[in-house]
Amino acid sequence: MRSNGSLVLEKYSFGMGDRFAHQASAQLRACMQIVAKGVEVTPVWNKSHREHAIVGSNPTSVRTAAEEAIRKLNWSRSFYIDADHIRPETVDAFVESSDFYTLDVADAIGQPAEEQELKAFIDRHPELVGTTSIPDIESPFMTTRADIERIAAKYLNAVQEASSLYRHIESEKGKGKFITEVSMDETDSPQTPVELLVILAAIADEGIPAQTIAPKFTGRFNKGVDYVGDIAQFEKEFNEDLAVIAYAITKYDLPQNLKLSIHSGSDKFSIYEPIRKALAQTGAGIHVKTAGTTWLEEIIGLAESGGAGLQMAKEIYDEALDHIDELCAPYATVIDIDRSKLPTKAEVSNWSAEQYADSLRHNPRCPEYNAHVRQLLHVGYKVAAKMGQRYIDMLETCEPAVARNVTENLFDRHLKPLFLG
Ligand SMILES: [Zn+2]
Repeated sequence: MRSNGSLVLEKYSFGMGDRFAHQASAQLRACMQIVAKGVEVTPVWNKSHREHAIVGSNPTSVRTAAEEAIRKLNWSRSFYIDADHIRPETVDAFVESSDFYTLDVADAIGQPAEEQELKAFIDRHPELVGTTSIPDIESPFMTTRADIERIAAKYLNAVQEASSLYRHIESEKGKGKFITEVSMDETDSPQTPVELLVILAAIADEGIPAQTIAPKFTGRFNKGVDYVGDIAQFEKEFNEDLAVIAYAITKYDLPQNLKLSIHSGSDKFSIYEPIRKALAQTGAGIHVKTAGTTWLEEIIGLAESGGAGLQMAKEIYDEALDHIDELCAPYATVIDIDRSKLPTKAEVSNWSAEQYADSLRHNPRCPEYNAHVRQLLHVGYKVAAKMGQRYIDMLETCEPAVARNVTENLFDRHLKPLFLG
């Protein structure tokens, strides 16, 4: 929405990925269903440079597809186009068509900041040292100057990079003309609530009007499969992160609507309940990104259609299996595939439409469901990209089954448990 001429991201927003630019309507229908249930969820279409490079698409195509869906379905509420995980070297291609920027500064984490700037930060923030009592966090944070020095040394450089990236976009698009997200999720170790507080103080110092922040949470957020980790620990940290954000907004004068963004948020069924409870309790907002889950629904739709559609779904699996190393490499940190659990090509060639769909569809209670097949195909979209028009034609042929699966997946397995329970 607009407020005093500036874009302000709504309380609940939902990031969706549409790799082959054919599902925007089916995705938007899921958002319409949740709105019809009385929960205002704002759609955001996101696509990273990595996805564009693998598919061979350009950033403009995301806006074109979204706007077509908006017109077709008469959506009159807000929507945004997120330049996901952009960096200084990739930002320029997104300047024209995006109005939401995810500044990925994970690679700058741990890179040393200037000694002087580090000292200036600590001197500016004596309040971070000692005991910090934050409403809704049981035990106060107890930190020494050395703790804060260590945390600042780890993150200050990343925040400065976010700042220069932000300023670059601001100079191109103008202040208030876009939503800013700072992402630190694609890194090795999770950020603790104390670290988040220090990061937010630094973001405020730099004057970055961040409306969402994507930390790395505890546990594994693998692509397309459920959360792996200690759910109770996640819940505790998530609630503390919410409390830290609420505190930092007032303390450091950050945007009032600043909220958490959960990356690789699709399919994390076991944490949706704790998330929903925490949001209900605190009144906090959330942004959830679910990029790759839609592409898997496309294959399910092809398989369910039988005939040539099923044949192509099998061909995609075969090719993915043949190129497993190459396909997994860019996603190595966010997948866990046990190759011994992958069926052979011969086995898959005998699968019925139902067997294929059951193996791939994320229904943990279905005995046929195979998380390894699912992860392999999740990273396997390059195979379909290589098929080019042949794949697109099949998507169009199988459109009823594909669209039905895309909408159902987003509404029944994502939006509903996240916002309705
Ligand atoms: Zn991410």
